[in-house]
Amino acid sequence: MQKITLTAPLSGIIYPIEEVPDPVFAQKMVGDGLSIDPTSHTLFAPIDGTVTQLHSAMHAVTLTHSSGLEVMMHIGIDTVALKGKGFEAHIKAGQEVKQGDALIDFDIDFIATNAKSVMTQIIFTNGELIESIEKAEGIAESKESPLATVTIKEALVCQNTINTPQNEEAILSEMIIIPNPTGFHARPAAILAGLAKKYTSKIALLKNGKSANSKSVVAIMGLDVQYNDTVQLSASGEDAKEAVAAIVPQIQSGLGDDVKAPPAAAVTASAIKKPEPKKKSSGDPDLLMGIAASPGVAVGIAVQIKEEKFDFAEEATDAHEQKNRFESALESSKNDLAALKESLEKEANLSKAAIFAAHHEMLEDPDLLEIAQNLIDQGKSAEYSWDQAYTLYAKQLEGLQNKLLAERANDLRDVGKRVMRLLRGKEQASQTLPDNAILIAEELTPSFVATIDTQKVKGFCITTGGATSHVAIIARSLDIPTIAGIEEQALDIIDGEPLILDGDKGTLRLHASQTLIDETIHKQQLITEERAKNLERAFEEALTADGKKIEVVANIGELKDAVAGVKLGAEGVGLLRSEFLFLERTSEPSEEEQYEAYRDIILALEGRPLIVRTLDVGGDKPLPYLPMPAEENPFLGVRGIRIGFENQEIFRVQARAVLRASTHGKIRIMFPMISTIDEIREVKVMLEEEREKLGVAPIEVGIMVEVPSAAILADQFAKEVDFFSIGTNDLTQYTLAMDRGHARLASKIDALDPAVLRFIKLTADGAHKEGKWLGVCGGLASDPLAVPVLVGLGIDELSVSVPSIPKIKAEVRRYSSNEAQTIASNALLCATAKDVRALLEKERR
Ligand code: PEP
Ligand code: MG
Repeated sequence: MQKITLTAPLSGIIYPIEEVPDPVFAQKMVGDGLSIDPTSHTLFAPIDGTVTQLHSAMHAVTLTHSSGLEVMMHIGIDTVALKGKGFEAHIKAGQEVKQGDALIDFDIDFIATNAKSVMTQIIFTNGELIESIEKAEGIAESKESPLATVTIKEALVCQNTINTPQNEEAILSEMIIIPNPTGFHARPAAILAGLAKKYTSKIALLKNGKSANSKSVVAIMGLDVQYNDTVQLSASGEDAKEAVAAIVPQIQSGLGDDVKAPPAAAVTASAIKKPEPKKKSSGDPDLLMGIAASPGVAVGIAVQIKEEKFDFAEEATDAHEQKNRFESALESSKNDLAALKESLEKEANLSKAAIFAAHHEMLEDPDLLEIAQNLIDQGKSAEYSWDQAYTLYAKQLEGLQNKLLAERANDLRDVGKRVMRLLRGKEQASQTLPDNAILIAEELTPSFVATIDTQKVKGFCITTGGATSHVAIIARSLDIPTIAGIEEQALDIIDGEPLILDGDKGTLRLHASQTLIDETIHKQQLITEERAKNLERAFEEALTADGKKIEVVANIGELKDAVAGVKLGAEGVGLLRSEFLFLERTSEPSEEEQYEAYRDIILALEGRPLIVRTLDVGGDKPLPYLPMPAEENPFLGVRGIRIGFENQEIFRVQARAVLRASTHGKIRIMFPMISTIDEIREVKVMLEEEREKLGVAPIEVGIMVEVPSAAILADQFAKEVDFFSIGTNDLTQYTLAMDRGHARLASKIDALDPAVLRFIKLTADGAHKEGKWLGVCGGLASDPLAVPVLVGLGIDELSVSVPSIPKIKAEVRRYSSNEAQTIASNALLCATAKDVRALLEKERR
């Protein structure tokens, strides 16, 4: 019998595997072994062998001994989420190593603070080879002390090779989209192997033409299955059918991982705000409730949009011809999408362009195309094959718990139909629309909405989707009021029925009386007239009745908003939410990319000032390339500027890009969620170091006042900075201790609460004492009712949403400084937000 002795790969205290704080290891689901709580930071090879698996996150490596014995070493617990940060591998998969060779260096402090534990597991993953294991106890000394001696069973051939069923008829599962945010790391791999081992059949996990034995944790991990990958199971043997039927749903539901949280790559900029919950019935049969997806009120008549259907034969005679037809339809669709994207980019409509870029990408998905091509090879028509492929994929997306991804199913159907139309030689279905049409459908595709006749269509109403769906994004850019997720009865509304759609409240009024319609139309007319008047004066300064100037600037998220802001009279940009550059991607934007983006915006502002807020993401919304372990209280965790301290390179790259762009115009920099004086001092040092390296002129520095400590110490902060900008969204959240995205608290969280107003006053007084200026860039600045209070409290600048600019300027002009001060003093004396609102309504009459 062969005996193999392992030397300790690390120094530290040896623990029985049963004591590891992770059931996957403690219950030996990966295999038997030991754990070391390390005091050293280099993992050495405990045996001679071949590196048969090295996880892309570099936290796990497997060596296979010439006897077939596999030893997996897993550094820390839940370290896959660190995505390689804190690890440096010295070896590659396939490499031969000798006992005592250095395998992986790791940053023990970083792991200790960013993962659940540093305890490192040494596991024997192919227990079927093992007769017995003698395990050491006590203290291990790396490379020196023996850790375990494994006795290998005699006459056992290594069964752990990757196998793909060959001669037997294999059962192939449906395509499965991986929902695990960190892919198949040790836990899901162990659970899958455990499930597969219950069956006698050979079961292979297939990904991109590669295959792994599903009964081997190492083989599964070696496949490097990542989030959103598409895999299939192939099984052959007596119980193949049962195995596939039992295992597929387990993979779909995450194999024990929490699959509710999407990785940030899948999160759109607009999704930073939590999606609104689906509303319940109003109790009034004539008032249907849904989700407010695009603001505004529309009065019009119902037009039901029917789903586009295609007729086609299932079978075909010439597979070669079908393949050619399919490929040419794909090519034409891709060309059309590329042209559409290009023209949208020319209009600086980047968010819409990105939607069609994503559609283009979908048509290049190898797994999706493979399903269609396989069916064509089996003698099916191109139409049937494609229809099967994209509808199957869309259904799988729809079934995901991740709402944002589920909403992408609609995009897939959209591109799916685009190709079908080309295959059938059909134009996009066009219904002749009456004037003032309110379109109702189960769902509308982004392509349909983007090409709609905006003269005729006054509103959209869909029973599916949410405020983050692409249809909603396009509707907002077209300024068409929209409700998503409306109650199903909407589909029973008869064509021609008069309707009132309120895109602010998310309600649809049926059987509206003529009086109500007239009243709504009258109100709309007044609003339109007022808007026109405000627009006429949009390019004038906003002066109070006694001539005090209030700067009215824009909150923007990207270049196109800057362009739109200038057209509506913005005197600059008071808040560029720079997150737009960081989201929906798998690696951080380069300095050059950021520099170009900031430069293009400052140039579009034609001499007006721009405030760039540095990256403001956090534990509640992680970025895929930035390891951020889950936090119990993400809003109180590593968020805002704290990200910049933990990931200084990200901060420094952004600071350099902003500084370089500042040579093209008046750029100021602003830091989010500053809560202590030490933080502003520290961040200024980093900024200054980068500035000196670049040799550019200093720029003005400001902070967002978003937490009570910053407001209370405003006089101290004012000595450190050039300006303040109050983020009332967060200031309200932290003042009232109410999560700003919490559905049940939504009606209680109000920025006009006197407690928040008192903090604003403290901030204004602190700034002015030191001769500094201050603005408000939170949502309160865009609320017309709040204007006199803010002006009366001493605010110098209002940074508002682009469409609100003319209106907010008009509100400033309504009051003298004295009147505004009296209103503000009275508001500060109110007891509740309701009282403040009542006071302001009265003053406005
Ligand atoms: C705020 O908190 O008010 C603010 C403007 O920042 P954001 O909404 O981006 O958190
Ligand atoms: Mg904020």
